[in-house]
Amino acid sequence: MITVETFPAGPLGCNCSLVVDATTKRAIVVDPGGDFELIEERLSALGATVDAIVHTHTHIDHVGATAAVQRKSNARACIHEADRFLYDLLPVQAAMLGVPLPETVEMEGSLKDGESLSAGSVELGVLHTPGHTPGSVTFVVKTDDGTRVFSGDTLFRRGIGRTDLWGGDSGLIMKSLREKILTLPDDAIVVPGHGPETTIGEERAKNPFLTR
Ligand SMILES: [Zn+2]
Ligand SMILES: [Zn+2]
Repeated sequence: MITVETFPAGPLGCNCSLVVDATTKRAIVVDPGGDFELIEERLSALGATVDAIVHTHTHIDHVGATAAVQRKSNARACIHEADRFLYDLLPVQAAMLGVPLPETVEMEGSLKDGESLSAGSVELGVLHTPGHTPGSVTFVVKTDDGTRVFSGDTLFRRGIGRTDLWGGDSGLIMKSLREKILTLPDDAIVVPGHGPETTIGEERAKNPFLTR
């Protein structure tokens, strides 16, 4: 059985998710944006051991607790290589967005389109969905209650990500949405980077950025 727990973490309320194989207790952490103590508390309540820490993209509000979770778990921490420059720019991001500068960690640029990461029976698929940032990715995982899609700041409930920050591209985000994300099953549950969950079908029908 695979379970997913999602809660807002960090200064801008980034959705952090714990994807856990309930049998082996191996886990993948998606977007530990901050609040290390909260993340640790939930991991220990689940009895979970972290095998990987992955990021939908490398804006500062999605990586705030990565170093702390990595140090505690010794898990690999991964981004898409095309976002590497954003990790190097963390001090600039901190100053511009007015959030504290987090500790950094050795980040693997190992997330690649079409590949997947595993933790126990969890198979977390990676889709490269650039536009919000050059290295934005969407994660897809099959759980006992259906498919979950972690869309980062590419797709929100009734919205899409901004493209006016470092390396953003409004043409590319639309291409990623249409060619990668909207081809997922209608009943797949979308966990966006911020705010409430939705489904692919609901966004295809009702998201004002996708219906016109
Ligand atoms: Zn972002
Ligand atoms: Zn964000």
